[in-house]
Amino acid sequence: MVDEIAKAQTAIPEEVTLFDKIVAKKIPANIIYEDDLALAFRDINPVTPTHFLVIPKDRKGLSQLSKATPEHAQLLGHLLITAAKVAAQEGLDNGFRTVINDGKDAGQTVYHLHIHVIGGKQLSWPPG
Ligand code: IMP
Repeated sequence: MVDEIAKAQTAIPEEVTLFDKIVAKKIPANIIYEDDLALAFRDINPVTPTHFLVIPKDRKGLSQLSKATPEHAQLLGHLLITAAKVAAQEGLDNGFRTVINDGKDAGQTVYHLHIHVIGGKQLSWPPG
């Protein structure tokens, strides 16, 4: 986790992101859901027993949530609904948490908007 925060200090928006490469199947990922607009795959470094990411296949300029405009409303709604659908598919019936890290202070390392879905145990609050 400390590594993620250190990585976030130097992470920058890129023309072609790591997640673009996962969408294009140029790098492998453990994909658990896919539709026309969204892809969900397991986080390579899970922080909870279940930890997956929901991303837009075409991020339409959405490197991070703070870049969202009204044009992104439908896509963002679809990603949230997808997060809940895949959480149910994963059996997270007792609850789950969604997280969107935005920028350095939040520890964002990949500048391709993504929703973390974490669960599978009792989560603590507040986060650090
Ligand atoms: P962020 O720190 O909110 O930007 O989240 C990026 C997430 O992507 C981190 O939780 C990483 O563990 C995860 N990640 C990085 N590379 C890969 C990969 O190749 N496959 C799956 N997850 C990845």
